[in-house]
Amino acid sequence: MRTVSEHQRVVADLITARPAATVGLADAEGLVLAADVTAPMSLPVFDNSAMDGYAVHAEDVAAASAASPVRLPVAEDIPAGRVDSLTLAPGTAHRIMTGAPLPAGATAVVPVEATDAGIDTVEIRIASKPGQHVRRAGEDVTAGTTVLRAGQLVTPAALGLAAALGLGSLTVQPRLRVLVMSTGSELVSAGTELKPGQIYESNAIMLAAAVREAGADVVATPTSSDDVVQFSTVLEGFAGQADLIITTGGVSAGAYEVVKDAFGAGAVEFVKVAMQPGMPQGAGRAEGTSIVTLPGNPVSALVSFEVFVRPALRAAMGLANPNRPRRTAVLADDLTSPKGKRQFRRGVYDPEAGTVTTYGPPASHHLRWLASANCLLELAEDVTEVAAGEHVQLWDLS
Ligand code: AMP
Ligand code: MG
Repeated sequence: MRTVSEHQRVVADLITARPAATVGLADAEGLVLAADVTAPMSLPVFDNSAMDGYAVHAEDVAAASAASPVRLPVAEDIPAGRVDSLTLAPGTAHRIMTGAPLPAGATAVVPVEATDAGIDTVEIRIASKPGQHVRRAGEDVTAGTTVLRAGQLVTPAALGLAAALGLGSLTVQPRLRVLVMSTGSELVSAGTELKPGQIYESNAIMLAAAVREAGADVVATPTSSDDVVQFSTVLEGFAGQADLIITTGGVSAGAYEVVKDAFGAGAVEFVKVAMQPGMPQGAGRAEGTSIVTLPGNPVSALVSFEVFVRPALRAAMGLANPNRPRRTAVLADDLTSPKGKRQFRRGVYDPEAGTVTTYGPPASHHLRWLASANCLLELAEDVTEVAAGEHVQLWDLS
């Protein structure tokens, strides 16, 4: 049997980055920059007012106070967006709004709160020093400097900066394209009445959501019966569209194991991994596309995705935190774990109390519990019993 760590390495080696791509700002959100960003211009673009108020020559109001205000004629009104160039004559003021261009010659802005808010003349009740309430061109960004580095996440603020610099696109590590394929002749879609022996297909939407949560794109979520010809036909319909194909089901030890039968010729290596849930696994590559075959039981499928696929996908997209945060918590109830297997139990973690309670049975069809769990307890291969009060390691899914 292969260890969890070994299979994690196999899958991580398999899932590789796509070539860097230049995409529109809106499509770069949440991705990692593949190239440094150099500022094509300075910010602020021009000297402008930091306040709503009056642009002045500072020396004209150097002695102003509430007791002895200075009165100046208001020669211009400068709202934000005014594009003509103005000059402030000595002994005058311009009414000016936040972000409006400072007239040539002005050296300070007096906030409107320190005036009578006059229109034709203004009474200034506070002294000003040169530079006060003025934003200088280039004080935030100097043209030609590197403002964002390759490897950085494109955050909302990074997008804002790029937009402020007039950039329309960024060069990023693109999202990986993932095809999620369910298999099973018993599966039907919601909305269809179940015949005896049929169940509703549930892995596709679950894994598609997990793929997107991991930061990757979902190409499609087709379902195939357990017929090898149908499986191959469905797959061929998506040829060249995916970087990674994730299948569920059809990899156990029974008859009619469609995924094993279809990929068995060598593209995919099928192995048993010493874990619970999720023992039957497969990984390989065909025609340049990575393939990861997960077991069909919903809990096994999602836990296997968490353990093997999610970290590999995120690492391949350059994300700095491929793994779920690990925590240590005090176990609230006794538990047992199979010898020789790494067990992932569903749990409810209380970060305030620092405790974790196992949630639901270990078997891999109990999806209800996973749906309301907020963590996975990770129990090492050599652990067979843990008593309440002992510390356990968990993966924070919240
Ligand atoms: P398999 O790995 O194909 O033997 O499937 C194991 C168990 O998971 C069976 O009970 C299947 O019916 C169930 N199963 C497999 N695929 C799905 C799916 N896409 N949605 C819901 N249940 C599934
Ligand atoms: Mg099946």
